[in-house]
Amino acid sequence: MAKKIETICVQGGYTPGNGEPRQVPIYQSTTFKYDTSEDMGKLFDLEASGYFYSRLQNPTCDTVAAKICELEGGCAAMLTSSGQAANFFSIFNIATAGDHVISSSTIYGGTFNLFSVTMKKMGIDFTFVSPDCSEEELEAAFRPNTKAVFGETIANPALTVLDIERFAKVAHSHGVPLIIDNTFATPVNCRPFEFGADIVTHATTKYMDGHGAQVGGAIVDSGNFDWTAHKEKFPGLCTPDDSYHGIVYTEKFGKGAYITKATAQLMRDFGCTAAPQSAFIVNLGLESLHVRMERHCANGLAVASFLKNHPEVDWVSYPSLEGDKYYDLAKKYLPKGSCGVVSFGVKGGRKAAEAFMKKLKIFAIETHVADARSCCLHPASATHRQLNDQELAAAGVRPELVRLSCGLESAEDLIADLDAALRA
Ligand SMILES: *Cc1c(COP(=O)(O)O)cnc(C)c1O
Repeated sequence: MAKKIETICVQGGYTPGNGEPRQVPIYQSTTFKYDTSEDMGKLFDLEASGYFYSRLQNPTCDTVAAKICELEGGCAAMLTSSGQAANFFSIFNIATAGDHVISSSTIYGGTFNLFSVTMKKMGIDFTFVSPDCSEEELEAAFRPNTKAVFGETIANPALTVLDIERFAKVAHSHGVPLIIDNTFATPVNCRPFEFGADIVTHATTKYMDGHGAQVGGAIVDSGNFDWTAHKEKFPGLCTPDDSYHGIVYTEKFGKGAYITKATAQLMRDFGCTAAPQSAFIVNLGLESLHVRMERHCANGLAVASFLKNHPEVDWVSYPSLEGDKYYDLAKKYLPKGSCGVVSFGVKGGRKAAEAFMKKLKIFAIETHVADARSCCLHPASATHRQLNDQELAAAGVRPELVRLSCGLESAEDLIADLDAALRA
């Protein structure tokens, strides 16, 4: 019988043998020793699997990646040094100069910059579509050189919910994979592969770590996308790699092709490697992820319900709140709850939002979310300040929007803090 998500959170990825450490060991070593150069050579040629240098792979990182893989129900996974690195690799692994990618417009500000500025400079063109777009509008965004579709399960900070099944269907009809950043939902609340997504990424920095202790990322492959059925679109996976004596990833590694290529090529060359210590800290977070998500969601819902009825509040956005624009999608994709993040507009616009935030005592002003400690942010003057008004609107960020991240404190105390600051 397949293990339940709670059991995987606690015990997935690592099964100690007789007399071995109960907790995941930290392999604090850059390198690994071999008896002969021939042994080592086989690793360099990807002829044998094993460890030789921690920029590419490290046993602690692999153990934690295996847990995240199991949580998502995937077939292969890797850790990265940050969520940014995970999203960059997830696309750069299959798209190169001259290619095109379609992305939801309501995505994390850092990802929007990565796509629209930095990756554009690398020659990859992005078309941004509304997460609410019709199938026809999504169809119209495709070009012959489109290589992937990208979106977030619950968008940070717009809190839109993506209709994963619909996006997957259209992506597949054009022979490309759907990549989903599942950071806010976590696999405890949504497993995008069950709805047709092909690749999942994470900023483990957020709920997976959950204590604001460690920046990190992860990429998981479902193994479901058939790259060889669209050989001409994905030459990097389906034709010989000269940097490994002409191996073909799909022929040699089958369902492991995508993650093996990302490790052997991108990690080798870019080195956005997770440190073993960092992986260990993420794993401590994962052990209680299922317990914490329940409380984050309960606090989020309590705070959202309170704000909705407050005279100083203009509007509230929280997918699990009845009447929310995304309530029906949340019921389908996030039946256990969405997340601890709540967005709302203070009456009086940008100025009132800034004044309100200064009065908060429990919610601290931070560029962070998904932490045990409650915090808040004004995206228009922080994470999204590079965006002009038009881009802000497309990203679903209004100037008066305050983003709250409800932590694990008492809901009563959180509400009292908000109430006092709103009244002041
Ligand atoms: C924070 C975040 C990222 C970036 O993660 P870092 O670890 O900060 O690089 C990517 N996607 C989403 C949805 C995020 O919330």
